[in-house]
Amino acid sequence: MKKRQLDWLKEADKIGHRLEILGHISERNGVLDRPPFSASIRKALEVVGSWMEEAGLIPTMDAFGNLRGAGIREKQKPALLIGSHLDTVPGGGRFDGALGIVLGITAASILRDRMADFPFAIDVIAFQEEEGVRFRSGCLGSRAFLGLLEEKDWELKDASGISVRQARDRFSIAGWPLKDPRPEEIFGYFEAHIEQGPLLETMGLPLGVVSGIVAQQRLLFRFRGEGGHAGCRPMKIRHDALCAAAAFVSFVEDSALAEPEAVATVGEIHCRPGAVNMIPHLVELAVDIRHPQETVLDRFSQKLQEKAIEISRQRLVEVEWQKTERFGAVGSDPNWQDRLSAVLATIQGEAPRLWSGAGHDAAVFGQHVPMVMLFVRCRGGISHDPAEWVSRDDIALALKAMVGFIEGFLPSSA
Ligand SMILES: [Zn+2]
Repeated sequence: MKKRQLDWLKEADKIGHRLEILGHISERNGVLDRPPFSASIRKALEVVGSWMEEAGLIPTMDAFGNLRGAGIREKQKPALLIGSHLDTVPGGGRFDGALGIVLGITAASILRDRMADFPFAIDVIAFQEEEGVRFRSGCLGSRAFLGLLEEKDWELKDASGISVRQARDRFSIAGWPLKDPRPEEIFGYFEAHIEQGPLLETMGLPLGVVSGIVAQQRLLFRFRGEGGHAGCRPMKIRHDALCAAAAFVSFVEDSALAEPEAVATVGEIHCRPGAVNMIPHLVELAVDIRHPQETVLDRFSQKLQEKAIEISRQRLVEVEWQKTERFGAVGSDPNWQDRLSAVLATIQGEAPRLWSGAGHDAAVFGQHVPMVMLFVRCRGGISHDPAEWVSRDDIALALKAMVGFIEGFLPSSA
């Protein structure tokens, strides 16, 4: 097979430049903020669409407003989808989401002349509303792409009372045909994404294979005690709801530290009546727990509930809880993990496998079609922040890995 002479660093420069352009397409000056169905995301989609055309892909929209650059199709071949999201969190970084899309477009462009040799067409997709900031529900775009949105999802409302359906109806992009895909046309899904954590950096490695997306549960605990005057009620007869909650929060942290691979966070807490001179009588707190294995997570969640009861008995307060969210773990396809590992081994000698603690569009696809993710090291493990950064060298290696992974499906390399 003839070898292409490709200057990977030059390609990385081009990718870096495109990410810089996207990084300035925002609702606000000087801060990256690109919510779904906004003027800024329309502009970003138009720019990305023009890059797709340059790479030989044909831009189409689906009914949700996801942009799909369709590769040349022969004999009704299914599509290998390479995607990520174009929306950002408020004050986000330029690599989260956009990196995977721009890498995909570049890879498609590099492989352009050999499209006919693959058992699939190569399509690149830019999703909307992965972050779930506007409608408080993540991966709406990728779920819509697969036809998985339910009526209640379309009726979700943003802070100004606009529903998903209304926002979508008001959002239009001229010129692109509307086309809704069918899952049976999909060969599989590949997503490159910044790690958003520090593990690769700690290992001194640019790239990693994602084993899957962890299972996640969210629980709301409510501690009900007895209020009273902060000055007049003796300490020994108090039933302070916040003190009970505080003991519980410490237990959450201690148990997560003792459980390998588990993370647990109490990120939201409301205390009533919430005045400096009043004893708290009601505390609500939300716990987010994650682990690669659902059975371990169930056990962990059980442990938290038992501890909450124990604390409530000791302190004579009431406690109740409810599970507000539950997502199962989604494993990457084992064969695709092996394929990607083999590519990484040639690029960087090692192919670490790691779980994604964050949700991604890939988790939606992984439940229906073969899926694997490539993680790219980001400086300091920082993400969702303007300081988010991936080096030019690492972008070049990520591109090499993506192209190598796709080339692995050529009949000649089997
Ligand atoms: Zn992301």
